[in-house]
Amino acid sequence: MHIHNLGFPRIGAKRELKFSLEQYWRGDITQSAFLTQCQQLREHNWQLQHQAGIEWLPVGDFAHYDHVLNTTLILGLAPERFTAHNSNALDLEFRVGRGQAPSGCQCAASDMTKWFNTNYHYIVPELSEQLLASSEKVNAESLILQCKEASKISDKTKVVLLGPISYLHLSVSKNADKLSLLPALLKRYQTLVTQLSNAGVSWVQLDEPILGLELEQQWQDAFSKAYQQLNKGKLKLLLTSYFSSIDHHIDLIKTLDFDGLHIDTVAQETDVSAIIDTLPQHWVISLGVINGRNIWKTDLVSVYQKLLPLYRHLKNRLWIAPSCSLLHSPVDLQQESKLDAEFKSWLAFAKQKCEELALLKYALVHENSDEITLYSSSALARCVSKRIHNDSVKSRVNGLSKEDFHRKQSFLERKVVQQKTLNLPVLPTTTIGSFPQTGDIREVRAKWRRNEITQAQYQSLIEEEIRNTITKQEDIGLDVLVHGEAERNDMVEYFGELLEGVAFTQFAWVQSYGSRCVKPPIIFGDVSRKQAMTLSWINYAQSLTDRPVKAMLTGPITILCWSFVRDDLSREEVANQIGLAISDEVVDLVENGTQIIQIDEPAIREGMPIKQSEWQGYLNWATAAFCLSAAKAPAKTQIHSHMCYSEFNDILPAIIALDADVLTVETSRSNMALLDAFDQQAYPNDLGPGVYDIHTPNVPEVDWMVALIEKAQKYIPIERLWVNPDCGLKTRGWTETKLALDNMVTAVKKLRAAYSN
Ligand code: GLN
Ligand code: ZN
Repeated sequence: MHIHNLGFPRIGAKRELKFSLEQYWRGDITQSAFLTQCQQLREHNWQLQHQAGIEWLPVGDFAHYDHVLNTTLILGLAPERFTAHNSNALDLEFRVGRGQAPSGCQCAASDMTKWFNTNYHYIVPELSEQLLASSEKVNAESLILQCKEASKISDKTKVVLLGPISYLHLSVSKNADKLSLLPALLKRYQTLVTQLSNAGVSWVQLDEPILGLELEQQWQDAFSKAYQQLNKGKLKLLLTSYFSSIDHHIDLIKTLDFDGLHIDTVAQETDVSAIIDTLPQHWVISLGVINGRNIWKTDLVSVYQKLLPLYRHLKNRLWIAPSCSLLHSPVDLQQESKLDAEFKSWLAFAKQKCEELALLKYALVHENSDEITLYSSSALARCVSKRIHNDSVKSRVNGLSKEDFHRKQSFLERKVVQQKTLNLPVLPTTTIGSFPQTGDIREVRAKWRRNEITQAQYQSLIEEEIRNTITKQEDIGLDVLVHGEAERNDMVEYFGELLEGVAFTQFAWVQSYGSRCVKPPIIFGDVSRKQAMTLSWINYAQSLTDRPVKAMLTGPITILCWSFVRDDLSREEVANQIGLAISDEVVDLVENGTQIIQIDEPAIREGMPIKQSEWQGYLNWATAAFCLSAAKAPAKTQIHSHMCYSEFNDILPAIIALDADVLTVETSRSNMALLDAFDQQAYPNDLGPGVYDIHTPNVPEVDWMVALIEKAQKYIPIERLWVNPDCGLKTRGWTETKLALDNMVTAVKKLRAAYSN
């Protein structure tokens, strides 16, 4: 039996890669210094895995920016707009990933999107017939060099590659039929595989994660076509899928020319023994038995019990691994010095997960479970610990009935009541919540965290910021104001720190994209609200102005999706617990006179399961949890929600089911393309399609926004239309923010004047 790994976090335990990247981008270090640092990091990562007991080291999982982008570059498929300028390989890489290169080329970066249902973003390949026919060569040199580096550490190395069918599936193309590009793409993959085989590579892990999807027939046929014609030469191929079960495609998989199959046994129930019996007898069976996406220590004894009969049956054909690449898990638990011993004993990060595999192998080979029994005791202790159970929270959730999940009055009834109290003009203007977070504000928060200023000093500094923000909004002439979120570092972290049942680490960073990392909170126990979380700031802001101030909350699904979540309770139940905590805040705000409350849910879409047939089940409980958080708001309280994307054509019924009084969405970049969805099904409540893109510092012209609003009016009657930017303004500077909002208000004034005539 062998232990292998599908991929290791590339950022480094102290985010070394992030800092190297940023130094290089700033011009503080040379290219060769940067490349040396990367090489050292790779070597360190392999050492770590090797010492932990991993036998087959993954090669090719490391990337300066993104592994999908690496695949694109190895295949010679960088879009032409980037290759037109001469540049070395590294700068080309950053040009595709980030747009502007040091030399000043102004090419828009390739799009970035979420890697399946994780929080990792990959660079979307852009394919065309022309590009595939271009003379740019396939070049596996970097991979082969890395194999040499890794072989100094272990005699077993395995190249990791994204497979052609998933690569094509994840790409965008102007060709109506992407599959027509397959033959040309396969030629490039063939060259790549031949180069690797000639270089003496023995195993390639070919990742085809789209096998977890319910593929249309033509995509299934593409698998047959690709893998029946690929000439492997001397090397062996391990077909690898993760994040979702592949049982439904097993009849297809068994016909393909592979030497082994990796199955994620953690993401979903999978009948492993049934699958194994149908596969060719010479295949290696790799079982992903350690969850590669969470931070919990594994109960190795229960894994052992399931694996032992399989091991007796498969013997050397059995490989064990994490369920997926460890890219999605933080690096090393050892660094955490502030967690108490009990809490720490519940956790395992990437390095510890590798060690778990070694423990498991020992137990299986020796049929001796003493050591793993000892190891797993703390994982079992977590499930019964008093710290994670709160009976009153549980009974509250169990006691929920249908009425708790929706507001008492219909939208139409609410709208009448709200209009009476709020008395807003036609095309009301507002923003999404945050205002520019200047260095000064960050410093105030940092000093407060380090106890360098008192609570009273902190409060008065934040209040000063709120006062300025309110004044500026009044000057601009916005109708619905916000307090600006100066007290928040991050919309999930802020609430996580105030909730019971949620913990924070010092170093549990996970790569989000490029040099960006996130440190998700850990939802370890029953969640409840200790005290009011936003009330005093909102009350203060409202005391400064006669215009309504909109309170800002983060919704339960976003808190859930952007955290590491306990695995001993269903996600639905955790979502309801958070929903109740947010609902408590809503009640407090209402009692204190808040008239408008926004509950942000930017993450609803990314929480969707991989398989489309499971979407509805998820959407049902996800929308329910949101509705639970808002349901106690009386008719007179206007509930807003916000989402940072506009492609919800396929989930529009769920978006409607949220029943927010006002929904603000991102759509300015796509020129209101979202509104096309309303041709099929009307959106019944108020809508604020973003009229300018906050992701660039460009100040939008008045007429541009007038045109967009007029376009929106064709789909949403003016009585239900709001005007706002497309997301929060915290990453912008004040200068451009003020100019942009001034223009936005001017655009609205023009339209109002035309409307009243
Ligand atoms: N209210 C948040 C803000 O303005 C919303 C952020 C988001 O949409 N991700 O920053
Ligand atoms: Zn947003």
